[in-house]
Amino acid sequence: MTASFDPASVDLPTGHHIAGRFLPASGGIPLRRPSDGAAHADCPVADADCVDRAVEAAHAALAASGWGRCTPRDRTRALQRWADLMEAEAAPLARLEAVSSTRPVAQLAAGDIAVTAEQIRFFAELADKECSELAPTAEGALGMTVAEPYGVIAAITPWNFPISMAGWKLAPALAAGNAVVIKPSELTPFSTVRLAELAVRAGIPEGIVNVVLGDGPTTGAALTGHPGIGKVSFTGSTAAGAAIMENAARTGIRPVTLELGGKSPQIVFADADLGLAADAIARSILANAGQACVAGSRVIVEAPVAEQLTEMLAARLARIRPGPTWAAETDYAPIVSERQIARIEGIVGAGIAAGAELRCGAARFDREGYFYAPTLLAGVRPDNPAELAEIFGPVLTLQSFASEEEALRLADHPVYGLCAGLYTRDLSRALRVMRGLQSGTVWVNRYGRSRDHILPTGGYKSSGIGKDLGRAAFHACRREKTVLIDIARTE
Ligand code: NAD
Repeated sequence: MTASFDPASVDLPTGHHIAGRFLPASGGIPLRRPSDGAAHADCPVADADCVDRAVEAAHAALAASGWGRCTPRDRTRALQRWADLMEAEAAPLARLEAVSSTRPVAQLAAGDIAVTAEQIRFFAELADKECSELAPTAEGALGMTVAEPYGVIAAITPWNFPISMAGWKLAPALAAGNAVVIKPSELTPFSTVRLAELAVRAGIPEGIVNVVLGDGPTTGAALTGHPGIGKVSFTGSTAAGAAIMENAARTGIRPVTLELGGKSPQIVFADADLGLAADAIARSILANAGQACVAGSRVIVEAPVAEQLTEMLAARLARIRPGPTWAAETDYAPIVSERQIARIEGIVGAGIAAGAELRCGAARFDREGYFYAPTLLAGVRPDNPAELAEIFGPVLTLQSFASEEEALRLADHPVYGLCAGLYTRDLSRALRVMRGLQSGTVWVNRYGRSRDHILPTGGYKSSGIGKDLGRAAFHACRREKTVLIDIARTE
């Protein structure tokens, strides 16, 4: 059972974590708590020298510890101990995360932290199970591919699920034998530093996990353009992803994994279980108050059931318990910052001005902090600003359709292709529509990931390149060397 706590009681690790040591730093970007708007800390900004130090520390650690060359089972054991420690420290870790992020403390302990520990174990187990290939070459030769780590991977994460996103990046990279320099979002920097401390306590060699704090233009750019890194793994907005890809190529050709924005459709056919669909859609937009890349924010509903579904959704969106992230009973998150809530207001206002019919929401809650009411905009046209922009807030738009072809046409976003949901009892239609959707993930009669970490996640179109989670994420942290050996008798 998670308890409420006093946010002033939490010590924030304001500093970088390099070569196994916490390096306190001061000044930087002033941070306000999303739950009450109070100024509570600064996020230091690592300059190019500091990033250099972290990358050098990572290389030195690889050379000294043999992390990339050791028996893979040794990496498995260290990563498992790290997952165990995260679970043992779940309560203080949840408090640390809840203070400065949008994640309610009860959801952290039971959700983000527990699931991240599971995912670390999933990748830990892959360390000694994924083989390379023996190739079918001619009899006089033996051909094979040998998978090797990249060396140092640069990871950059967003603010919306800080622990989960750090886990997605760190676990496969470490299991595959790499060292990592990670830069969390400047809005939510603290929990990643604590994860690095726990990694050292778990026996992962010092310098294999390094954390540099700072913003995108200074620290992020210095890291992703550093000539000493072998690969970039990024989760964040499409605009930053494009800048990172360009920057990474400037100092050498390196692979980039990009998990980017989304504006995901949910198609509801008239034969669907409407109660199930309404529950799943409401959950998908209420989770983290819509501040989720996978938020299923565009509802596309068959005309005969459009009004019924709209009413069901409005009723479900009213069932929330907003509150500070440090209160155990809170289930509805604040928006991360004044800037972000103002952005949501702007897009919703533009959507209404462009003809959307407001069914509920479109207002801040009358309380301290940055809380925005769940919002339903019906009757939107495909070119409505609220239909096009990734709002990253608790806003659902509704459009109706008359045919399967029209549903697919409306679902197809001009920019994004991260996820899609579809609800129907007709199996053939589900499979047909699934094939027609331009999305990296399709959920049928559900919306959102399960705890089956074997399933990869990643976007089509400008929603990204490559996959997180699953075997694909592990393989993406290794490069393949081709070896051909002549074995024919020469005497
Ligand atoms: P953001 O792109 O503003 O920032 C993400 C991270 O990138 C931060 O750490 C930031 O400091 C850094 N950054 C920004 N510009 C950079 C640059 N030029 N060079 C290097 N680093 C830079 O995103 P955000 O506002 O933190 O997060 C929200 C976005 O993340 C949304 O678009 C959301 O869809 C996306 N997201 C995607 C996934 C996914 O799996 N596809 C998951 C979570 C979030």
